[in-house]
Amino acid sequence: MPMDFESKMNMVPNPERGVVNHESRVYGSSFKGIPLEVFGPTDGPTDILLMAAMHGDEGESTVVLSEALRSIRPSDMKHPVILSVNPDGILRGTRCNARGVDLNRNWPTANWSPGTVHYRGHGQELREIELSAGSSAASEPETNSLLALVQRLQPRAIVSLHAPLGCVEDPEVKPLARWIANRVGLPLVPDVGYLTPGSFGTWSAEQGINIITWELPLEPISDLIASHAPVLRRLITGERLPETL
Ligand SMILES: [Zn+2]
Repeated sequence: MPMDFESKMNMVPNPERGVVNHESRVYGSSFKGIPLEVFGPTDGPTDILLMAAMHGDEGESTVVLSEALRSIRPSDMKHPVILSVNPDGILRGTRCNARGVDLNRNWPTANWSPGTVHYRGHGQELREIELSAGSSAASEPETNSLLALVQRLQPRAIVSLHAPLGCVEDPEVKPLARWIANRVGLPLVPDVGYLTPGSFGTWSAEQGINIITWELPLEPISDLIASHAPVLRRLITGERLPETL
């Protein structure tokens, strides 16, 4: 297809994709002291902010987003990218951060509540593993730092990658979510089927930001890269996106 050929002409050649060469800015620090980094433009307002791995046991989201980022020349980057919102969780292989807090339940929303949150582990049937929503809303450094970054970047839309539910979630079913779902062949849903008080999605919606939760399907990582990285690439470069987000 001519358009795909044109895109490939501008991509970083394979031998040069080994490292992330894009400029980054440290926007905070994890509880364990790991720098929280955002790549690309760091001044707002921006149309789209892309991020991965709010849950540390969903590392495939970081790999797929990184593959897309490393294929893009730094000069072609239009929208900022966070490869790991929860680096302590990634290092430990845990859904939560190093303090046992599910960062996707720690946001200062109208419905945030303290106490235990439950989730279903990989390969398990029941949502019986316990984590915390935090000692207070935005109690965690990862939450606080991201909150300040979002306020600085003023994104119109945020695309947050998770796994492995295999759907694109947008409560308002806006054009950008429809565009993503169509291109990656995933169902577009208004919610994931259970309550998520204190979630990043709820907080973003309360700020008037168009929030899209992109749940990668349970597939080999090579298949995820083949089908999802090209769409992420277009979101990062802003190349032929829908007119309305
Ligand atoms: Zn997740």
